[in-house]
Amino acid sequence: MSPDTGPLSTSVPTSEFPARKPSKLVVSFEFSPPRTDTMAETLWNSIERLAPLQPAFMSVTYGAGGSTRQRTHETVVRIKRETGIEPAAHLTCVAATCGEIDDVARAYWDAGIRHIVALRGDPPRESGGKYVAHPGGYANAAALVAGLKRIGDFQISVAGYPECHPDSADDITDLDNLKRKVDAGADRCITQFFFDVEDFLRFRDRATAVGVQVPIVPGIMPVSNFAGITRMAGMCGAKVPGWLAALFEGLDDDLETRRMIAATVAGDLCRKLESEGVSAFHFYTLNRADLTYALCHLLGVRPQARPRAE
Ligand SMILES: Cc1cc2nc3c(=O)[nH]c(=O)nc-3n(C[C@H](O)[C@H](O)[C@H](O)COP(=O)(O)OP(=O)(O)OC[C@H]3O[C@@H](n4cnc5c(N)ncnc54)[C@H](O)[C@@H]3O)c2cc1C
Repeated sequence: MSPDTGPLSTSVPTSEFPARKPSKLVVSFEFSPPRTDTMAETLWNSIERLAPLQPAFMSVTYGAGGSTRQRTHETVVRIKRETGIEPAAHLTCVAATCGEIDDVARAYWDAGIRHIVALRGDPPRESGGKYVAHPGGYANAAALVAGLKRIGDFQISVAGYPECHPDSADDITDLDNLKRKVDAGADRCITQFFFDVEDFLRFRDRATAVGVQVPIVPGIMPVSNFAGITRMAGMCGAKVPGWLAALFEGLDDDLETRRMIAATVAGDLCRKLESEGVSAFHFYTLNRADLTYALCHLLGVRPQARPRAE
C-alpha cells in the first residue's frame, strides 16, 4: 500500500480512467423552430445551456414546403444576436420557385447569416411519396448549392446518407449525388443519423474514394423515445438494429432509464467514431439540451468563456 493511498482513499487509479485532455473536438447542434410559446421556452433554455460549449454552429431546420420560413429566420437571427454562436439556416427546394428560394437566401445574407444547410427536402405528404421538383424550382440539393453560391459566398453544408438515401438506386448513385453537391460548392457533409459505426466508416471511405474531400460529419441522434425514432428511421431509410430495440424493451413507462440508456448508446457510438479519427460531431438535439450536454461532456467538450466581442 503506498503511503498516500490509505484504505479510505477514494482516488481513482489513473491507469484505468485516464484523465481526458481538453477536447479538440468540434461539435454542432441542430434545433427546430418552435411552434408554440411553451416550445419556444424549451428551445431557448436548451440553446442557453448548450451555447457555452462553443459549438462551431447551431443549425435550425426548415419545415416542409417552407412552412417554417419565418420562424426559421427568426430563430437563426436570434441565435446570432443572443449567443454570438454562428447559426446555420436549413433551406429546402420544396414547393418554391428558384426566385422564391433566392429571396429567402438573400434575406439571410442581408441579416449577416453566412451558413446554409442546403437540402432538397422531402416530398409533401399529398404527393404520394414521390419527389417531383417544383416547375421553375431547384431540381435538387446540388442545384440549390449552385444557386446559393451565385447569391453570396455562403458556407454550405449538405446531407449525406451512410445507409443510402431511399430515393437512390444504389450506393454509387447516392455517392455521385454527394460528389455533385460538393463540386457545386458544399463545404461539409452532415450525415443522416445511424446506429452502426461500420455504416458510417464504409460511407466515409467510399465518399473519399469518389473524390469527396470535404469533412463528413456524423449526425448523432440520442434516442430516448424509441417509438419516435423508429418512425423517423422508417421515413429516412435508416435502420434500427435489433440490439437497440432489445435495449428499450419493457421501458415504455420508464423515461429515466430510457434516458440513461440513450446516453450510454450514443456515448458509445461517439467514442467509437472518435477512435476512428472522427473529430467533429453534429447532434440532433430535438430541442432538448441534457442528453447532448452529457455527450459533449463525455467527449471532453466543456463550457468555455464566451469570446469577448471586439
Ligand atoms: C443533416 C440533415 C438535415 C436535414 N434538414 C432538413 C430540413 O431542415 N428540412 C427538411 O425538410 N428536410 C431535412 N432533411 C431531410 C432531407 O431533406 C431529405 O433526406 C431529402 O429526402 C433529401 O434531401 P437531400 O438534400 O439529401 O437531397 P439530394 O441530395 O438532392 O438527393 C435526394 C435523392 O435524390 C437523388 N438525386 C438527386 N438528384 C438526382 C439526379 N440528378 N439524378 C438522380 N438522382 C438524383 C439522390 O441520389 C438522392 O437519393 C435533412 C437531412 C439531413 C441529413
